[in-house]
Amino acid sequence: MKPPICELCMNKFDHREEGGTVSFKKTKQDKKWEKRVKKKSIVEHPPFMEWFCGEHFEAARKLEHLHHHEAMQELRKLFLLEEQSQS
Ligand SMILES: [Zn+2]
Repeated sequence: MKPPICELCMNKFDHREEGGTVSFKKTKQDKKWEKRVKKKSIVEHPPFMEWFCGEHFEAARKLEHLHHHEAMQELRKLFLLEEQSQS
């Protein structure tokens, strides 16, 4: 597993206190990855799973039906573009 760093704002956080992982919809490549990992019985961070801090976790979880890259586009629109327009 990767250390808990928010995929959206890149902040480190304590996952025992806030945030968590969101598993997005798996792509074909992700399914291949799963097969490969099961065969080798190694532990890797799944490519479709990402950490989100307390601020972004709820929004990310609402988008878990999307593929990872689609969800990230939506989240950037929701949070990052909003911040830019305010400054
Ligand atoms: Zn965040």
